[in-house]
Amino acid sequence: MTKTISEILDQDHFEKQDIVTLLSANEQDRNLLFERSAMIKEKYVGKRVFYRGLIEFSNLCAKNCYYCGIRAGNKQTNRYEITEDEILEAARYAYENKYGSLVIQSGERSDKSFVKRIASLVSRIKKLSNGDLGITLSMGEQTEETYKSWFDSGAHRYLLRIEVSNPELYLKYHPNDKKHDYFARLESLHLLRKVGYQVGTGVMIGLPFQTVHDLADDLIFFRNFDIDMVGMGPFIEHENTPLYQYKDELLSKSERFYLSLKMVAILRIMMKDINIAATTAMQAIDPLGREKAIKVGANIIMPNLTPSKYREDYLLYEDKPCLDEDANDCKQCLEARIHMAGGDIGYGEWGDSTHFKKRKKDEIK
Ligand code: SAM
Ligand code: SF4
Repeated sequence: MTKTISEILDQDHFEKQDIVTLLSANEQDRNLLFERSAMIKEKYVGKRVFYRGLIEFSNLCAKNCYYCGIRAGNKQTNRYEITEDEILEAARYAYENKYGSLVIQSGERSDKSFVKRIASLVSRIKKLSNGDLGITLSMGEQTEETYKSWFDSGAHRYLLRIEVSNPELYLKYHPNDKKHDYFARLESLHLLRKVGYQVGTGVMIGLPFQTVHDLADDLIFFRNFDIDMVGMGPFIEHENTPLYQYKDELLSKSERFYLSLKMVAILRIMMKDINIAATTAMQAIDPLGREKAIKVGANIIMPNLTPSKYREDYLLYEDKPCLDEDANDCKQCLEARIHMAGGDIGYGEWGDSTHFKKRKKDEIK
């Protein structure tokens, strides 16, 4: 017998079929899901929303993921690397405005000078902020040694999306070579945990060939991995990428958006105390997308602190928002919007994942 949405929502544990049913919910049922996830969010993580000032450090990338606008094969991109002074200035802005943490993100590179530069930057940011700014890195797959050197310099969280948790599907979105190996990516997630990071992963939602069954598997993957943080959002096509050829077969942007909201809501119910980001890609489809994600379960937001002159070159997908705003514009509009969504901003706090803290405690016991 098919269960109703209310029956599923009353369960303590979701099986794959339950998740598929929730992901397929119509508008009325979807609201039941959103109400429940909002309640759970308030009970387990509260109203606090934590800032991670986002610095898009460089769009130089050695990889060729089929979905990404800054892939090495896109020769139409103007490549950049932000100077050390500019980064430190953005970090100082974050510190003075009590952002609590930074996320430094870039294309994937593993040359020695890059690895060293990041370690030195992380140390300098820690020094500049008397150790107060938390630092999350998102720079792709690296060796254990590199992860360790960045951790020892002061970074304590790392984001590495698995992108899709099914290895066969992974092959549809990446070249079939050593550089783009699903199992190497998975191994990186394990290495990050071993080194001591709070580990975040995530997926794109609404990719060509992807079904709600795949998305249900992705949520189960997060649960099985016992992940600390998740950032996931809609896939948005970019003209100069191989996946653009499927643009007419995609779900509409609005469908991808609501599917993403459902993923956030279901995950909040499944993993009550993890950190979930309201991602920029949600804002790219709906101007209030991030605030809507906060309402249904997200508790992390990443205001963009990349100097404006570089933003149009970090174009992962079309319609990326806030390209011409400076940090201050973003700050003011965001604060009002988070309040409207019923959130309080956790100024000056790291906002570490409660899940991580519990996991660490359990490991010691
Ligand atoms: N290079 C690092 C990596 O791949 O992990 C970090 C930077 S990468 C640009 C950050 C994330 O952007 C990826 O994990 C991917 O999920 C997302 N992304 C790339 N292209 C996208 C697209 N067309 N639509 C939505 N998200 C995209
Ligand atoms: Fe490079 Fe990351 Fe884009 Fe892949 S997703 S092409 S690794 S920046």
